Amino acid sequence: MTTIDAELRGRAEAVIPGGMYGHMDVRAFGDAHPQFMAGGDGCRITDVDGRTFLDFMCGWGPIVLGHRHPRVQEAVAAQQALGDCLNGGSPPMVELAELLVGTVAHADWAMLAKNGTDATTTCVTIARAATGRRRVLTARGAYHGAAPWCTPRDAGVLPEDRAHLRHFEYNDLDSLRAAVADAGDDLAAVVVCPFRHDLRRDQEPPDPAFAKGVRELCDATGAALVLDDVRAGFRLDLAGSWEPLGIRPDLSAWSKAIANGHALAAVTGSDRFRAGAERIYTTGSFWYSAAAMAAAIATITELRDTDALARIERAGTRLRAGLDAQARAHGFEVVQTGPVQMPVLRFAGDEDFALTRAWTDEAARRGVYLHPWHNWFMSAAHGDADIDDALERTDDAFAALARR
Ligand code: PMP
Repeated sequence: MTTIDAELRGRAEAVIPGGMYGHMDVRAFGDAHPQFMAGGDGCRITDVDGRTFLDFMCGWGPIVLGHRHPRVQEAVAAQQALGDCLNGGSPPMVELAELLVGTVAHADWAMLAKNGTDATTTCVTIARAATGRRRVLTARGAYHGAAPWCTPRDAGVLPEDRAHLRHFEYNDLDSLRAAVADAGDDLAAVVVCPFRHDLRRDQEPPDPAFAKGVRELCDATGAALVLDDVRAGFRLDLAGSWEPLGIRPDLSAWSKAIANGHALAAVTGSDRFRAGAERIYTTGSFWYSAAAMAAAIATITELRDTDALARIERAGTRLRAGLDAQARAHGFEVVQTGPVQMPVLRFAGDEDFALTRAWTDEAARRGVYLHPWHNWFMSAAHGDADIDDALERTDDAFAALARR
């Protein structure tokens, strides 16, 4: 029997390069992950063939309150009834910028865009405009988006696009010191993620001494400390993901969870970089779209005024504990890393991820959507009963793997 998913994949092959591109291409996962989805509700998604999954990817991060959260959907509908794409900004633009300045600890101003890549690229452009320097440092293996300066693939990218990009090792202050020294008086920015969440490796919390060292090196050289909070932002700490460490960046890039699935990104900055931000030219046809801003206001307000972040943490803690116990009971050793709000699991010694992938495949067959080597995302819609429902199915997936 041909499924609707298979039929869509076939049609896509003809009219979409490669049939699918980027991070949403599921072909590397195994056979059980659908390529095409029909809808989402709370912490569940349904594919085009009507199979429902407990969703632990949350649209790869944007869904922080749950799919189609009523408060967010109402705010979007109300703005859409007035108009979305108009000439100029609309009141939600100013209201959202005020909300970001009032919520994000280091922020004196905010700019709005659409995607995470817009935000990271704008941070780098502002840093260069403000400092008049060229060199940008990022951690080796870190993802900051899909523009030529940062995309992980070389195809179509010129050496010139990255001529002033150099790397350091995350959490290794000596390697950062060496990269800073090598930049001499040409260092514009150090771009860093709040924790190490690279693909296909254990997630690593930031060493507080490393974070402090990044701040000190930026202060000593006048370079911008750019925190790429695109993935972690608005899931861990609304004031900024390095706020618990007491380290404030000069510029931050935000997107994903900022508007619970509506297309929005933001750059926040301190007054030292305001003039640089005023000088650059950056824009986009849809950057002023008011409905996504209304979604962001509703999302951030809901996160701020309710126990949503605590629920996300509770759900992640419950899931991690349950998976740990199940793995042990079935005789497997697993390694779970990252903050519980953005967890990931691999099987110990599983260098090529074959076993991990076999397990996520078995889980998908049982209605649990997990990723074999990218961190997962928890949402405030994951209640205890949903986690227990998922765990019942993952237990079965471990059992199936043990039988193989
Ligand atoms: N930075 C980080 C840390 C990310 O995780 C991502 C997206 N995965 C980006 C930047 C780019 O965001 P987008 O895909 O929205 O352009």
